[in-house]
Amino acid sequence: MIELTQVTRHYRVGGQQVTALDGISLEVGSGLFVSVVGPSGAGKSTLLHLLGALDSPDSGSIRFEGEEIGSLDDERQSAFRRHKVGFIFQFFNLLPTLSAWENVAVPTLLDGVRLRTAKPAALALLDLVGLGNRAEHRPSELSGGQMQRVAIARALMMDPPLILADEPTGNLDSTTGAAIMELLGDIAHDTDARRSAIMVTHNLDAARATDRVITLRDGLVGSDESITARSRVR
Ligand code: ADP
Ligand code: ADP
Repeated sequence: MIELTQVTRHYRVGGQQVTALDGISLEVGSGLFVSVVGPSGAGKSTLLHLLGALDSPDSGSIRFEGEEIGSLDDERQSAFRRHKVGFIFQFFNLLPTLSAWENVAVPTLLDGVRLRTAKPAALALLDLVGLGNRAEHRPSELSGGQMQRVAIARALMMDPPLILADEPTGNLDSTTGAAIMELLGDIAHDTDARRSAIMVTHNLDAARATDRVITLRDGLVGSDESITARSRVR
């Protein structure tokens, strides 16, 4: 589903060139929950931004369902993000004045849909993430784990084939984080959806709950380990 070939991304910092990704090649199939770990500066955020078409590589190819996304113009990148990717963040990024269901429905506004029209779909997604009884609550009335569930429902609103999560357990206690890992695993493993989820994390326990752990080091793939069901932390 996703195929990176020899992907390189440099940054220019004060006349110096910093190599964030140094010609990495990777394939990720659908139906998988994948984690990307590694020390600070290893290139994890850069990789996530490239996968989400928030940034483009300097060289190499990024193919998503056969389409080259590494060289899209701004408008096509934006359309790709809107329809193909659901983003999940460490600090949830919910809109504080909107209720849970309104937050879930927000992505449809960009397509000119009014919030109210999207309400049944938003409520169904809140049910799916176990928050059916919190639909009218504002973010300030929810726990961290509940806020992340709202954010996950929002990420699913456009039914994207790719979920990208940046440190999704970073602001949660370990029990709550484990429950969020289980939910993201269920979402990636949903065989009807042909979806995959890729998470960047510093949390090795969270990474052990995924199907595959890719370790980046200095812009290169240091290791790439499949986690069997038996050794998976749940
Ligand atoms: P990680 O997410 O693993 O901490 P990053 O992808 O953020 O790593 O960074 C990889 C390297 O690229 C680091 O050396 C970082 O300093 C550099 N880098 C990342 N983003 C930028 C940027 N916008 N401008 C300049 N250098 C950057
Ligand atoms: P980092 O990990 O580098 O600190 P974040 O993962 O929090 O950064 O966010 C990456 C950037 O991508 C942010 O500037 C965020 O606002 C932006 N972003 C995330 N999703 C979208 C989107 N769908 N459209 C446009 N920008 C987005």
